[in-house]
Amino acid sequence: MSPRVAVVGAGFAGLAAADALARAGVAVVVLEARDRVGGRVASRALDNGAVVELGAEFVLPGNATVLSYAERFGLGLWDKGMRYGMREPRGGIAVDPGRLREALDAVRSALPHGAGRTGISAAELLDGLPLDAGAREAIRARVEVSSATTADRVDAAELAGLAAHSDERAPSIAGGNQRIADALAAELGDALHLSSPVTRIAWDADGASLAAAGHELRVERVVLAVPASVVGRIAFEPELPAAIRSAYSAVEYGHAAKLFVPLTAAAIPSAVLSVPERYWTWTATGDRGAVQPVANAFAGSSPALDRLAVTEGPTAWVESLARLRPDLALSRDEALLSTWDDDPWVAAAYSSASPPVEAWAAAGPFHACGEHTAGVRTSLMEGALASGLRAADEVVAALPGLAHRTARG
Ligand code: FAD
Repeated sequence: MSPRVAVVGAGFAGLAAADALARAGVAVVVLEARDRVGGRVASRALDNGAVVELGAEFVLPGNATVLSYAERFGLGLWDKGMRYGMREPRGGIAVDPGRLREALDAVRSALPHGAGRTGISAAELLDGLPLDAGAREAIRARVEVSSATTADRVDAAELAGLAAHSDERAPSIAGGNQRIADALAAELGDALHLSSPVTRIAWDADGASLAAAGHELRVERVVLAVPASVVGRIAFEPELPAAIRSAYSAVEYGHAAKLFVPLTAAAIPSAVLSVPERYWTWTATGDRGAVQPVANAFAGSSPALDRLAVTEGPTAWVESLARLRPDLALSRDEALLSTWDDDPWVAAAYSSASPPVEAWAAAGPFHACGEHTAGVRTSLMEGALASGLRAADEVVAALPGLAHRTARG
């Protein structure tokens, strides 16, 4: 059966879209640039057995779509022991925990109810409140790390999650988040083509012709599941419809990197934030509740990556980590750095600002998905999966002869 729909990109969004379409009986083909699926979800087992996440790690509270895939494929969860939302701030202007809690409560009260944008930046909101100076700096560091950009570039709504100073669980998929991508890929079978970057899409009123890996393919609809940061690598003929084009160009990206240093002695679960250097580090439980023998770290925002000199390798960061965490027995020579700015298929970490979901309405034969299109829970695995399901529903509604079905079975 020749495919009616092409999905470009096999990250969580593209895989969710393709899987939902296949389950609705639509012949689909998935074209993925890399030689693996998962995109910004990539799990790796270290020599000492620890499983690390080079990209997305934490399934945040309320991320029900991610959990639904875990359940569908019979995948367990690793609790991690530490709490994503509770990080001990160190360095900079000192702050005691009571003052920090008071400041977070003040931030929460200052935020409007609901998850919507506030129209002011996190920096403006923090600067306008009479907060303890150490607490203000710690909260600013926290929001800059998580949003992977500076506090003047991100909406104050991003502070809402921090202000909840949540002690809820934020687990990972047991054995690695990549297992969701692998399970979806297995369902797709021959419909999935790796090492097939789409370089050109010629389109008209009846559909589109895609060029990938030396082949040309004609389909009725195209699901664009690539990051906005690299959509410009595809030549569109004619150019993309104006509405989608302007949505893509409005997306702003944050920048982040991760570091993993194997441990030579047992550790307890922990989460520590380096306030001045804008990174956090954690040790966490894995299989059977045992702490994995690895120190993990995540740095967010371009200034943080510059300070840690990540373009030159892990050395400066490892030295900083050793100073921050004298309690950990670091095997410094085995450090593994994970960078994304130099990855040609994303060239950034995740969106830090993006247009609302309405801006991504289908146009021509195109349906855009990906974390940047999710409207809510952008930047997360949850947003990526939900956006893929939304795109699949749109395709089913648009394809002649299928309008009575839904993509979710
Ligand atoms: P991607 O995963 O980027 O998938 C897009 C796919 O398109 C890729 O496979 C790419 O190779 C492919 N592609 C690109 N161009 C082409 C082309 N021309 N032709 C064919 N294929 C193409 N999220 C969380 O929920 N929790 C976390 O703790 C978390 N931590 C993160 C830490 C880091 C360091 C990073 C980088 C991300 C993190 N995220 C986290 C975000 C999460 O990884 C993303 O939101 C999500 O994986 C995005 O999925 P996606 O499908 O939208 O995009």
